[in-house]
Amino acid sequence: MNIVVAGTGYVGLVTGVALANAGHCVTCVDVDQAKVELMRQGVSPIYEPGLEELMQENMERLTFTTDYASAYRTAEVVFIGVGTPEKKDGSANLSYVFQVAHQIAENIENDCIVVVKSTVPIGTNDKVEKLIKDNLAHDVWVEVVSNPEFLSQGTAVPDTLHAARIVIGAESDRAKEIVRNVYENFHQPFVITNRRSAEMIKYASNDFLALKISYINEIANFCEIVGANIEDVAKGMGYDPRIGNRFLHAGIGYGGSCFPKDTKALHWMSNYYERELKTIKAAIEINDSQKLKLIKKSKQYYDSLEGLTVAVLGLTFKPNTDDLREAPSLVNIPIMLDDGATVKAWDPVGVENYKKKYPDELQYCDTIEETLKDADICFIFTEWQEVKDLKPEDFKRLMKKAIVLDGRNCYIPETFSGSGVVYNSIGRTIVE
Ligand code: NAD
Repeated sequence: MNIVVAGTGYVGLVTGVALANAGHCVTCVDVDQAKVELMRQGVSPIYEPGLEELMQENMERLTFTTDYASAYRTAEVVFIGVGTPEKKDGSANLSYVFQVAHQIAENIENDCIVVVKSTVPIGTNDKVEKLIKDNLAHDVWVEVVSNPEFLSQGTAVPDTLHAARIVIGAESDRAKEIVRNVYENFHQPFVITNRRSAEMIKYASNDFLALKISYINEIANFCEIVGANIEDVAKGMGYDPRIGNRFLHAGIGYGGSCFPKDTKALHWMSNYYERELKTIKAAIEINDSQKLKLIKKSKQYYDSLEGLTVAVLGLTFKPNTDDLREAPSLVNIPIMLDDGATVKAWDPVGVENYKKKYPDELQYCDTIEETLKDADICFIFTEWQEVKDLKPEDFKRLMKKAIVLDGRNCYIPETFSGSGVVYNSIGRTIVE
């Protein structure tokens, strides 16, 4: 089958490479010429473990181009994996999806299935299909199928090769069968439904996970008040198969390109239909306040950060990704800088992206040791393994004042007792 993937970000590129790995010939289209040049050389433009290797293994079935017109002309299936970022009002920006839809309509010369993988509000696929049909340059059959993506950044390759389920939302048996055939070598359970249910499955799933995180964070905050330990509480909860142990890790809130925007988009939609989803609203509000938790905790030690040296460990929204979208570091570091602190930061892969936003404002360090050296306080925003490997004596030895605010509960608090380090984490007793 002649497959085209539009957009080579985390979703599009991983999808394209996984489909090539399953034996399909795949043309990956992007508007970004620099990205296309890199991919032609077998270089992944994004950091995603295992992606570049899998891409290189399948190069003979992969083509990368900016020439969308030629790519769509003979396509039998086009996957759309372009971004749907948040607009100022919280709704989803669909301009990239609609742009691709126009480009498809103007160029396809074969019967074609358009598979929307981007996360889009309920009803969008109906609009995409109408838009394509209204603008077709040739008399061909076209149908839009919803096939939402559930991968997580950092584990995108295994998540795609061994997905828990493949959701296909289509309005005809013909379309369902074609998309099912595309995935025939994936051996994963299919959930086959109509388009609107498929679109809703994506939002309901993502927002449930966001809600679970906000729930455990709120419980963690309450643990601090009543003297309970959130790690033990989460462990005790997680053994219950009705609850499950994933997404029960308390911290300074979720970030990334999906949970923040998908909660806001569903909340926006619910208000649009005058049926506000109050649980989603609560998840958003808790997360916004949780992101500032460490800054608030720092007030226990310093009235202001003015004149202090602040060590920041971790810039990305989670480990194993270079993605900074909605990362807590983006909310906290500007506050530190406004306060007048000198900020030293370390991250193994996020620095280049951070420099694009803050080229000169912070000191980027190559090592954790250099970051901690002579610091008055340390903030941990990302639980990189190198951070988790640190010992209390490392903080004590290197910092001027060993105060560690851990937003990801990287260590067991008791290991800090008697170490001369103040260790303050989320949902657990402070150890001094
Ligand atoms: P991304 O921003 O990483 O990539 C989007 C790509 O699309 C970019 O490379 C951009 O240059 C390209 N693009 C824009 N307009 C184009 C056009 N007209 N033709 C071809 N390419 C074009 O986005 P992403 O993180 O991969 O997310 C894509 C979609 O998938 C979003 O709707 C997102 O919500 C959803 N999603 C993302 C994840 C994730 O973890 N990132 C997981 C599940 C679902």
